[in-house]
Amino acid sequence: MKTKEEWIRTNQRMVDVVVGNQPDRIPYYMNATEALGARISGLTIGEMLTSGKKLAKASIETCDFLGSDIVVPVAPGGGYMAPFEAIAFAKANGKGHLVEYKDYDTPFIHEGKICETEEDIEKLEIPDHRKVEPWPTLLEAYKYIEEMSGPRTMFSPSLTWSNVQLLRGSRAYIDVVKNPDLLLKLCDKIYESQMDFYKAFVDAVGKPFVLFNCQYAFNKHMLSFEDAWKFEGQYVARFCKETQLPLMVHNCGFEPYWDEMVDKMREEGVFIVGVNGSHPLDLDYWVEFNKKYPDLLIAGASVYVNNEIVSGTPEDVKNRVKENIVKLGHTNKLMILPTCSAMWGSSMINLMAAKEAVEEYGYYPLKV
Ligand SMILES: [Zn+2]
Repeated sequence: MKTKEEWIRTNQRMVDVVVGNQPDRIPYYMNATEALGARISGLTIGEMLTSGKKLAKASIETCDFLGSDIVVPVAPGGGYMAPFEAIAFAKANGKGHLVEYKDYDTPFIHEGKICETEEDIEKLEIPDHRKVEPWPTLLEAYKYIEEMSGPRTMFSPSLTWSNVQLLRGSRAYIDVVKNPDLLLKLCDKIYESQMDFYKAFVDAVGKPFVLFNCQYAFNKHMLSFEDAWKFEGQYVARFCKETQLPLMVHNCGFEPYWDEMVDKMREEGVFIVGVNGSHPLDLDYWVEFNKKYPDLLIAGASVYVNNEIVSGTPEDVKNRVKENIVKLGHTNKLMILPTCSAMWGSSMINLMAAKEAVEEYGYYPLKV
C-alpha cells in the first residue's frame, strides 16, 4: 500500500495538469465505482457504508490496487453523487422504502417516484446533509481519506439533471415542454440541497480545490442547448460563482455539447478548467479541442478505452492509451481516465493494462 506521502506525490500530478504545470508523469485515475470497490475490497456496499472509516479504507485499497494516482470514494463511485442524494431525498421525505440497496452495485431509488406529482415537488423537503444518511458516513469517509492520503482536491455536486432524472423520472422530459415552471421549481430545490451538501462538506473536510460536476443535460439527443442551459447550466454557473470555485465537467453522454457549453460557461464568467467524458471517440476531435481551448484539462474524454476494456485484449487497451498519449500527451493537459465506471465483470488484466501503458509511455519527457 502507498504511504500518505506517496499519495500526496501522485495526487500532485492531477493538480499540476489542472494548473498548467508539467507533472513527472501523465496523471492516471481508474474510476472504480461501487461494483469494482466491492470486488476488490471484498465488502458489500452495505458493509462499506456502516462507517466512514470502513468506506475510506475500502476506497483507498481499491484505488491503490488499480494504480490510481488519486483516491475517490468507491461509494458514490467517482463523482456520481446523484444516487446517494436520491437516498437522502427519499429519507427526508418519508419515502425510504423506495431505496433499493444492492450488495455489489450502486444503490438506486425507483426513478420518478419521489417527485411523482406536482404536490410532491411543491412539498419536497431538502435533506440535512449533516444528519441524513448516507451523507454523515460519506463526510466521515472523506475526512479519513484525507487523513490517510492527503488533501482531497475535488467536491462533486450533482447539479442538476442527474437528480432530476432520479426524482422526477422520464416525466421531466414532458415537463420541459409542458410544465417548465414546475421543473424549474424542482431544479431550485436540487440547487438548494447541493448548497447544503457543499456547506456540510466544507465544515467537515475543508474548502475543495475544484468542483467536479456530473452534468448530463448537455447532450444533443436529450435536450436542446437552450433547455440544457435553462434546467442545468444556469444552476452550475450560479453554484460556481457562489462558491468561487473552478469547474470540471463530467458528461459521458453520446452527443455532448462540449464546445457550446464551454463557451457559454466562460461567457457567464465561470472559470472552467477541465472536461471529462467519453464521446466523441474520434481522437482528432480532441486534438482540435485542445487547439481551441489550450487551458482545459482533458480527462478521459479522448482516452475512453471502455470498448477495449470490455471486449479487447490487454494489447488493445495499451495501444489505445498509447495513441492518446501520442496525440495529446505533449499538451500537458491530459489525464488518463480510461472509463466512466469500470464494471463488476471487467477483465482485471485489461484494467491493469491501462495503468501499464501510462507507466510505459506517460513519463515526461515523452518518448512517444
Ligand atoms: Zn459517466
